[in-house]
Amino acid sequence: MLQIYSLLESFNLVGTELGINLRIKRDDLYPLPGGGSKARKLNYILNEDIRKNYNAIVTTGSNQSNHLRATALWAAKLGWKLTCVIHDDEPVIYEGNLKIVKLSGAELRFVQKTEVKDAMDKAMVDLSNEGYKPFYIWGGGHCVEGALAYYEAVKELKEQLKGVKPDFLFVASGTGTTQAGIEIGVRQFLPGCKVIGISVARDEQRGKEAVLESMGTLNNYLGNPITMPDNIEFDDNWMGCGYEATYPELIDTIKWAAKTEGLILDPTYTGKAFHALRMYVKNEVIKPNSNVVFWHTGGLLNLMATNKI
Ligand SMILES: *Cc1c(COP(=O)(O)O)cnc(C)c1O
Repeated sequence: MLQIYSLLESFNLVGTELGINLRIKRDDLYPLPGGGSKARKLNYILNEDIRKNYNAIVTTGSNQSNHLRATALWAAKLGWKLTCVIHDDEPVIYEGNLKIVKLSGAELRFVQKTEVKDAMDKAMVDLSNEGYKPFYIWGGGHCVEGALAYYEAVKELKEQLKGVKPDFLFVASGTGTTQAGIEIGVRQFLPGCKVIGISVARDEQRGKEAVLESMGTLNNYLGNPITMPDNIEFDDNWMGCGYEATYPELIDTIKWAAKTEGLILDPTYTGKAFHALRMYVKNEVIKPNSNVVFWHTGGLLNLMATNKI
């Protein structure tokens, strides 16, 4: 595993319009294959031990999965064989993430959602029969090493803040692995900062359960550095009708951020989290002059693949 930092950058024009001190953790520019939170997670999932003992990967995702794209680039970089089980219809035109997955030489198997588990098991057997040693990665990089990547990333953030104490930290939350690592890291290293996870797909109850479960696993793995909270913030009011759904206010925020200061957000993940932040400020849940960190988790290829904006 390489020790790789992403920038922490002040966004003064957007911050001034919102009336807050805004810093953005630029994991969208994370400097390993393709960037984004999935690349950061994979840096920990594909650790030294794994690299010594395997030479192929089986994983899963949708056509526009950032996880598939990051895995495909990692696999190519390591010279490994990759089989992607894709729970989508094969598109006529390969765009965004899928274009890169294909270019990387991965084998693609398009299946129905209900067939994913069987198809992944079969891909593992097929690779073994071909003489490979395949490593199995859950969709989204959902595992303790994925959460660990974000726990470690909070130490990096703390160093970059140089003593500034953030009041709020916003992050887009899907499987909850990213938020879980951030929650534990912030409780340990930046106490007093409130973490707000903005749901991209799940309702509040399911989302919270998933984050708390990942937190419990990571906390144990680390030797219990924190007292587990009963509750966390996981706000499901900003996803529209669900995963990849858009709505006019979301599109407005994405356009506004881009033209105000070149802040590029995507409609699937970061746009929803940033729109929520904008509304929290408008509704005065966040007071003027607060120190806010927005964790930019990537998503540029999701933006490039959609025609809704
Ligand atoms: C996957 C992803 C997320 C959500 O991360 P989880 O760890 O699944 O909660 C957020 N933003 C982007 C750009 C992603 O690709």
